[in-house]
Amino acid sequence: MMRDKAISKIFEAAVSEGRNFLFEHEAKELCSIYGLPVTSFTVSETENGAVEAAVDIGFPVVLKIVSAQVLHKSDAGGVLLNITDEDGVRQGFNKILENVKAKVPDAEITGILVQEMAPSSTEVIVGSTKDPTFGHTIMFGLGGIFVEVLKDVAFRLAPIGRSDAEEMIREIKSYKILEGVRGMPKADQETLVDILLKTSKMLTECPEINELDLNPVLVYEEGAKIVDARIILE
Ligand code: ADP
Ligand code: MG
Repeated sequence: MMRDKAISKIFEAAVSEGRNFLFEHEAKELCSIYGLPVTSFTVSETENGAVEAAVDIGFPVVLKIVSAQVLHKSDAGGVLLNITDEDGVRQGFNKILENVKAKVPDAEITGILVQEMAPSSTEVIVGSTKDPTFGHTIMFGLGGIFVEVLKDVAFRLAPIGRSDAEEMIREIKSYKILEGVRGMPKADQETLVDILLKTSKMLTECPEINELDLNPVLVYEEGAKIVDARIILE
């Protein structure tokens, strides 16, 4: 199993800083090495840097906290969506720092993550946990109440093949939503299969991953965007 050197570097950086999780931008970098469709992003340490990044990425953008002490960013007031201009970036940059300082006073701030704002659409989740005996599981479901309340999810052990991925998508009870009912957009199922297969490859090649949460993944009629990626290490 030959793995890209860039992959080990991502894990090593986290371990050397004493973190048991990857920052969102690190997790997205890892995902993008495997060809997974993540939002474009830049980490900025300064307000001016954040403005530059936003202009490069194109408005609207999303700003998020990057801190080793903040795993759940929204809980700390660390996520601002739909920022439409430079002034908004400047205000948002400072607002996030203020929110996080109030909620997590000892938080060390690594920077602010500036990213592409993905248009809203049907939300799905791709996840994984690691079983000590069987290794990585891979989970698929629709986002929000479908997974949290209805537990409508499909599981397999990794690695999976194309037919497994297709079955996982079709076996959830909420499958019809992906087919486009009641004015919902029809989801690009080929892209979902591709995401499941690439996730499976990533899990198999990265034993360092203890838990994975691509949540939400916004699915369009064509393509999809992973807007948050959380990876917990061994
Ligand atoms: P948390 O660490 O709290 O899970 P997220 O990165 O998931 O933070 O952001 C919270 C929510 O904001 C997401 O569940 C999603 O609904 C929305 N969101 C986050 N990033 C984006 C984005 N780039 N485009 C669109 N919506 C986003
Ligand atoms: Mg999230």
